[in-house]
Amino acid sequence: MESFKDIEYFVNALSGERLTYLKSYIKSLVPNLLEVREEQVENLCCPDCGSDKLKKNGNYGDKQKFVCKACNRGFGILSGTCVHGLHKRELWTRFIEFTLESMSIRKICEELNISRQTCLDWRHKLLTSINEVFTKEFHGIVEMDDMLMRLNQKGRREDFIEESRRTKTITNRYGNRVSMRLKGNRKRGISRDQVSVLLTVDRYGTVGTGMLKRGKMDSNSLNRVFGNGLLSRLNSDNTIVTDEAKAYVSVLNACGFDHEHINAGNKQWTKGIYHLNTLNNADGRFKKWIKYHFSSVSTKYLHNYLGYFKMLFFVLKSGEKMEEFLRFSLIDITSNFRFRNIENQYQTFLKY
Ligand SMILES: [Zn+2]
Repeated sequence: MESFKDIEYFVNALSGERLTYLKSYIKSLVPNLLEVREEQVENLCCPDCGSDKLKKNGNYGDKQKFVCKACNRGFGILSGTCVHGLHKRELWTRFIEFTLESMSIRKICEELNISRQTCLDWRHKLLTSINEVFTKEFHGIVEMDDMLMRLNQKGRREDFIEESRRTKTITNRYGNRVSMRLKGNRKRGISRDQVSVLLTVDRYGTVGTGMLKRGKMDSNSLNRVFGNGLLSRLNSDNTIVTDEAKAYVSVLNACGFDHEHINAGNKQWTKGIYHLNTLNNADGRFKKWIKYHFSSVSTKYLHNYLGYFKMLFFVLKSGEKMEEFLRFSLIDITSNFRFRNIENQYQTFLKY
């Protein structure tokens, strides 16, 4: 840190006018959340009723407040976004930078001097804000397959689910109940100790993900994921390639899509131009990325990490990743609501 000391010495030696200039210069290097958000919003509307008949209602800190004339709701420009109501908002851009480096929670806490819980909340606020943003339509050949992940209850203290008879629930030294896998006794085959996730990719780098259910996927869960936005991203020009699972045949035929299935059981890997290689590649990369950076992730937040992965490897292409990421994170004004709803969503998912 020799050079940093030098800079400090240099800054201390500056006169008032130059110091003011330096301050404004440094400020211009860090994007201001409010300015970024203001650029995004062309016509500010009420987040409740969508009316654009607003009146100004004073300031709160540096934020302009508005009141909707139609429904009387008060709100600001950041309402509903992931940074709404955030203390220490000024640290948000640095937090995004660290997130992009896949830095560990412990390290981020140290760097930003925030608590572990705040850091975890921020991570999932950020990830929730981006997971509904990239819903581009699919083009041409679309590969679709389910991926199995182990049910993971990392970080949970209450509402613990017994995984299976082959695991034992113990109380660890921190007083948390954790499930310990009995050595060599992993349940074989597909069971409710695993969760199915639907991956959909086309050959142009558009990715879709959906949480299917615990255990083996079926047509009901497939229909549910289709209904939750996937169907609207597919059109009649798409040819969908899947494996030979029956659920795909019934659901895709009912929706009237062109459908090719690859019979991997018969050692068939390609069928003319149709194959599942793009998808299997993404699947492998996702699992490796999770293992390398997070060791494992809780099933409760799996959806968020899928969105994060999608963002890192398929969306962000330019050199200015941080600013892009920041911009994306502020678009969705339902993100704060979805963040508060994660636990409910998880509880519903476990019952499927
Ligand atoms: Zn309103």
